Amino acid sequence: MLMKDKDNCKSPMTRLHAREKAHFRRLFENEGVSDFDDILKVLDVFLETEEHITSSQLIELLKSRGTELEPSVVRNALRLFTNFGFAKKLRFEDGKIRYEHCHLGEHHDHMICKKCGRIIEFRDDKLESIQAEVAASYGFHMLWHRMEIYGICSGCLKNRARIMPLSRAKKGERLIIEEFTGGTNARMRILSMGLKTGDAVEIITSSPRGQVVVMSKKRRYAIGRGLAEKILVKSQEPFS
Ligand SMILES: [Zn+2]
Ligand SMILES: [Zn+2]
Ligand SMILES: [Zn+2]
Repeated sequence: MLMKDKDNCKSPMTRLHAREKAHFRRLFENEGVSDFDDILKVLDVFLETEEHITSSQLIELLKSRGTELEPSVVRNALRLFTNFGFAKKLRFEDGKIRYEHCHLGEHHDHMICKKCGRIIEFRDDKLESIQAEVAASYGFHMLWHRMEIYGICSGCLKNRARIMPLSRAKKGERLIIEEFTGGTNARMRILSMGLKTGDAVEIITSSPRGQVVVMSKKRRYAIGRGLAEKILVKSQEPFS
């Protein structure tokens, strides 16, 4: 399919997406793919979003645009997009499978906020070449890579309370023990573990319902959820 003239006055992104759609049509038009028209509708909506979306989010998005499709059709479409390089499958630390556009010849990496889940795309040419150089110094020929940086986004940093219970801290955070709440019993249990106010701790793991494992003074401490709620910690200034 040739691009129509009116596409030329659209934004570069819109033009790129029109081209992607044309590629897709050319590849599959005469292949007897079942539900081809529905799959094209999925492609339209998928190309419209610049997000990293899960298949259920895409199903919802389609529904909000008045296109109600069988989940299996949407999943099938996403499989097709992925297998033929129109979409890229991402699996970040939370284990959910997300999809994003995969434009030929374009590459970017991701920063993922552990507080609000925001995904920030970035590209740094220095970082790109350093990765290839490091690989080469090991005699390793890099074909591709994935770079994910986990942390706290600028918005969340701004809104974050400086003092919070240890149970709310995220993996990798470095904090100072500010105070113990919850009465003498809890205080004694914490002290007997060897932790005291003013100690610096780093979160090794923390799951929503499980225990918090911290490192302090080069030792690991496993702290139950209930106890972790009674330990108030102060976040250290970012990047200090
Ligand atoms: Zn990269
Ligand atoms: Zn955030
Ligand atoms: Zn991305």
